[in-house]
Amino acid sequence: MAPTDYLWFHQPTLGPEEEQALAEVLRSGWLTTGPRAQAFEERFAAYVGARRAVSLSSCTAALHLALRALGIGPGDEVITTPITWAATANVIVHCGATPVFADVEPDTLNLAPAAVEARLTPRTRAVILVHFAGHPGDLDAFRSLQARHGFALIEDAAHAIEAEWGGRRVGTFGAAAAYSFYATKSLTTGEGGMLVTDDGALADRVRSLSQHGLSLGTWTRYRADGVQHYALLEAGYKANMSDLQAALGLVQLGRLEAGWAARRERVGWYDALLADVGGIRPLGRRPGVRHAHHLYVILVDPGAGRDRDAVRVTLHAAGIGTGIHFPPLHLEPFYRGLLGGREGDLPVAEAAGTRVLSLPLYPGLTAEQVGRVADAVRTVVGAPPMPVTRRT
Ligand SMILES: *Cc1c(COP(=O)(O)O)cnc(C)c1O
Repeated sequence: MAPTDYLWFHQPTLGPEEEQALAEVLRSGWLTTGPRAQAFEERFAAYVGARRAVSLSSCTAALHLALRALGIGPGDEVITTPITWAATANVIVHCGATPVFADVEPDTLNLAPAAVEARLTPRTRAVILVHFAGHPGDLDAFRSLQARHGFALIEDAAHAIEAEWGGRRVGTFGAAAAYSFYATKSLTTGEGGMLVTDDGALADRVRSLSQHGLSLGTWTRYRADGVQHYALLEAGYKANMSDLQAALGLVQLGRLEAGWAARRERVGWYDALLADVGGIRPLGRRPGVRHAHHLYVILVDPGAGRDRDAVRVTLHAAGIGTGIHFPPLHLEPFYRGLLGGREGDLPVAEAAGTRVLSLPLYPGLTAEQVGRVADAVRTVVGAPPMPVTRRT
């Protein structure tokens, strides 16, 4: 059911600038990785405040190649959150290493430092910290854990391009950070990703791995006879970003801060329109951090009188799309089979998994549409309609 007035969970913010940028790439005759990918990398690294950025086909590739470049493989353990997209944990499996899930903080649903500390073993080689929904994880605690235990901290910043911790952009606190430009993300190239790091050798290795394992020095060098040659150093992957994607990325990067400000405004509208509704509350926000506001997640508590799935079905029937971020990964059939995960292992994540509901949040949402979503949520949990005077 998708009548024309169906309010989609997400709509990308695109304009004539993107069309023009794509047309320019087509006319240039250079479609694959080239000058636009390089320019996007430079501007993205400057935005984040990191020394190097490598444009890739996805955030999944960025996470996977970061682990590979760090030498993580069979016998190693990598700790991460169960409240994330499957990619974050799957890449650990792809490297032959073992994912170890640790529980999350009840207010932000970010990985809980104490839970990670309890799962550290001599085999722990890395921790992948997801800045869930755009709220930065506790980077002070993870940096101090990292300093004491020596694992590689990898930031999954798929939700958190604009986020800051202590006045500093996330993505610069660990060995590497990974970003997603998937269609529903705050900056989109349709599909795409970026690896960011201050470590030049790591960036070079990731770039080589993304291009089959070719030696980059020889790839760009021309012999005395003017003919290009290269050396293949290892069996790498194919995960580079095309100039078509990068051209979109350059335009979208220019829209980023305005999009963030627009989402933050809409978060304020939702907060005001839902503040008095019993049993419904947004995720917690820590003072002093810059939240990227990628998702507006509410928790449907048992006191709401309707469970989360009933709320979701009713909203859908009312023509409103929602999302669930995320059912805990340790209880998915694959990870149950691999790791023997069972109900009760990670109680905070499991409780959250049945309660989280993401409402539409993107710059194109009008005040009327936010009001319509809030009214529908109020109706389904039996709250009185919002008084007209308090409408935005
Ligand atoms: C979207 C997402 C990814 C994967 O991004 P792709 O670009 O689709 O590979 C990884 N981690 C998180 C938290 C995500 O939301």
